[in-house]
Amino acid sequence: MSRGNVSRRLLGGLLALAALMPSAAFAASVDNLRLWAAPDHARLVFDLSSSAEANVFSLDDPRRLVIDLADTRLAADVERLDLEGSAISDVRTGVRDGDDLRVVLELNREVEPRHFRLAPNEQYGHRLVVDLEYPGESAVEDPIDPIEAMIRDQEIAADRAQAQARVQGRDVVDSAPVQEPAQPHPKRDIIIAVDPGHGGEDPGAIGPSGTREKDVVLEMGRRLARKINATEGFKAVMIRDDDYYVGLRQRTRIAREQKADFFVSIHADAFRSPRPHGSSVFALSQSGATSETAQWLAASENRSDLIGGVDGNLSLDDKDEVLRGVLLDLTMTATLNDSLTIGGQVLDRLGRINDLHKPRVEQAGFVVLKSPDIPSLLVETGFISNPDEERRLQQPGYQDRMMDAVFGGIRAHFRRNPPPASLLAWQRDQGRGTGGNEYRIQPGDTLSEIAARHGVPVAQLRQANELNGDVIRVGQVLQIPRS
Ligand SMILES: [Zn+2]
Repeated sequence: MSRGNVSRRLLGGLLALAALMPSAAFAASVDNLRLWAAPDHARLVFDLSSSAEANVFSLDDPRRLVIDLADTRLAADVERLDLEGSAISDVRTGVRDGDDLRVVLELNREVEPRHFRLAPNEQYGHRLVVDLEYPGESAVEDPIDPIEAMIRDQEIAADRAQAQARVQGRDVVDSAPVQEPAQPHPKRDIIIAVDPGHGGEDPGAIGPSGTREKDVVLEMGRRLARKINATEGFKAVMIRDDDYYVGLRQRTRIAREQKADFFVSIHADAFRSPRPHGSSVFALSQSGATSETAQWLAASENRSDLIGGVDGNLSLDDKDEVLRGVLLDLTMTATLNDSLTIGGQVLDRLGRINDLHKPRVEQAGFVVLKSPDIPSLLVETGFISNPDEERRLQQPGYQDRMMDAVFGGIRAHFRRNPPPASLLAWQRDQGRGTGGNEYRIQPGDTLSEIAARHGVPVAQLRQANELNGDVIRVGQVLQIPRS
């Protein structure tokens, strides 16, 4: 990639000369520049020798962003910055007013700039962070309504309609017959959100020989996604698919936006001493879940708390606080139960290829596990601080076996409990893999079609199930007689 030009090289040469001059005159220097390109933003980080005032403003024709740093000199090589995949097409630098540094970013698209300073931490010193957000390309819509988002498939909608009908004293069985025209079963894929931890600015844990958690978990996440996508009835969504940081709340939002059925975050543990080792699996703690319920409730106070069903809306507006809390609690408890069940399956399989750090699924208040309606797990694949595990975590074969274990646990659960509109549910109801002669009625089914599909005369099907007419309901289990 050719980003440099003659005048820029000249300027670079002058700056290199300037760098050789005594630096006592400058309050700060830019020692390094780092760029992270995410789908919805780019983050440019200036590593500074000390804190520096920055003035950031946009200019048009051509579109560019100017970053002025008072009393600062450049001691980094701008040429080495890899701009690929970012909104920045070129970087120019110059000196203003004798001792101020001007950095000009040439932009190939509209951006919304934001900047802030960061104080030193264990990893880095003083930093100036410039974020270029891409309008209209946010990975998620914001704000989200957690309650509305909770209603994701027809079964839940049907449950709500039934609840409402009960409240209104209607008999839901007769009031919700399934008639023509028949709708095909959606046979949708079960969506697994794969979340490699950390990324970009945040390297995660670092092993004794320098292995970074963010790198090995990205590799493992990609392996896991490939396995999921290669399996009929499943589809993977990567929460992070490169070396950039995604906020913790945003990770769960992306999962929701992508209508994930399950969320799994991949990590590698670290400890002060090299001794601890082994894999562990975390679900949300009950206390975390409980306080989170309160938080979701608070956040949804001023939004339209409408649960939109397919053909019957249940408004929570006129229910009291306690009932709303109970409904959310029930959802979160069910979600947590699923998380623990799947976690057990995953842990069981991990235990066949690695020592387990703890013998059962642990529970903690990790933010990424706090979706009220998406079962979620955090897998600590091993201790990167343990030299042996650090070595193994980098091996492709080992990564592969670990991810086989993770997906194996998830797959086993969903084969047993497929979401109603999924391909796996449809296959189960066709009697595949179960060997049963029962059929559970799906949205859009008609009696004649079910009879035809199973090669049974309608009259015989009706008789076997003591049906009078053609009215059937979703969820009803029919006995399929042998013809
Ligand atoms: Zn981690």
